[in-house]
Amino acid sequence: MIRAYLDHNATTPIDPRVQELQTATAEGFPGNPSSLHREGREARRQLEDARARIAELLQVEARDIVFTGSATEAANTAIFGLANKRPEHRRILASPIEHPCVLEPLERLAREGFEIDWMETGNDGLVDIAAARERCRPDLAFAVLMQVNNETGAIQDVAGLLDGCREMRVPLVVDRVQAPGKVENDPRLRDADVSFFSPHKFNGPRGIGIMVLRGETSPQALVIGGGQERERRAGTENVAAAVAAARAFELALEEIDLRRLKRAEREEQLLAGLGDAGIEYVLNAASAPRAPGVLNLRFPGHYGESLLMNLDLRGVAVSLGSACSSGSIEASHVLRAMGLDLEENYSSLRLSLSHLTKSVEINSFVRAMSEITSSTED
Ligand code: PLP
Repeated sequence: MIRAYLDHNATTPIDPRVQELQTATAEGFPGNPSSLHREGREARRQLEDARARIAELLQVEARDIVFTGSATEAANTAIFGLANKRPEHRRILASPIEHPCVLEPLERLAREGFEIDWMETGNDGLVDIAAARERCRPDLAFAVLMQVNNETGAIQDVAGLLDGCREMRVPLVVDRVQAPGKVENDPRLRDADVSFFSPHKFNGPRGIGIMVLRGETSPQALVIGGGQERERRAGTENVAAAVAAARAFELALEEIDLRRLKRAEREEQLLAGLGDAGIEYVLNAASAPRAPGVLNLRFPGHYGESLLMNLDLRGVAVSLGSACSSGSIEASHVLRAMGLDLEENYSSLRLSLSHLTKSVEINSFVRAMSEITSSTED
């Protein structure tokens, strides 16, 4: 059975051009970049070239770039590192639609006595930036807001919040994980105090994150014990992954128009297919500016988890916004923040397409949905 993979927001297949470069770099430069001998110096050169390339693409300085093990690690570093840096600032302004890599560190800080001031989110999946700006005061430890929501694809007005934070001298943390390859690079966001990316979300390697530090208040290191990355993240750097990440970034920016077009075409095909098949659906966050190809769809009268499993049996991979924890399915915190009730929440699925998604994959999804919804399977 040919599988239809419609879960590119979870992870993407590595681009063969990137994979080839990663393998060649791992084979050709086996040294530790901190070593003083030739092998070390050659590996260091590769690492620094990758850093410089990413910096150039983002229009920042090479020293602003820190390689981490994942975006999750970057988020933890930003949040705990900024909270520790200015302990007299006990209030944090945060959006409730962030990824768990942001929310769970915030929950821990709340248990330790920090006050989390949650931003408001509309039914359209957009955070209310005007209201957030009003709550942006100099006593904040920091503010945190994502650029593109991973569940709905809604693009947030981060630049608007950045202006407010600047005025109040409040550091802003921005999760930019779901942006590359989906939305144009927004040069205004380069000046966020901390931002981070995850190359495996744009056809790059896993196990590496890119953290960009621009602010006067840079976070205290979370991982220490080696001095690497200018003492901002200890641990031997993965040189081949850094080189591959730079190439993946370059390709995502170079091919942005084509990628967006392909994603939009497939999205149109999918929605038209559902319509033609007479399958009732509601597109969550439909009125928000959205990353093309990210579809959070509600199927009234059906249970998302059961749809997911039946689709999987028919060779189609999709995801739920809701998360499985301790054996039970929890409603999506993003859809909850948007005001969806439990029934609406549990009947929603997330489909994330990419420029690589083929027409036959979309057809498989629509066919499988027709079979499932016309039987009593869910
Ligand atoms: N932020 C967002 C918006 C994500 O979608 C993800 C991954 O799902 C992450 C952060 C975490 O990225 P990583 O897998 O690199 O830890």
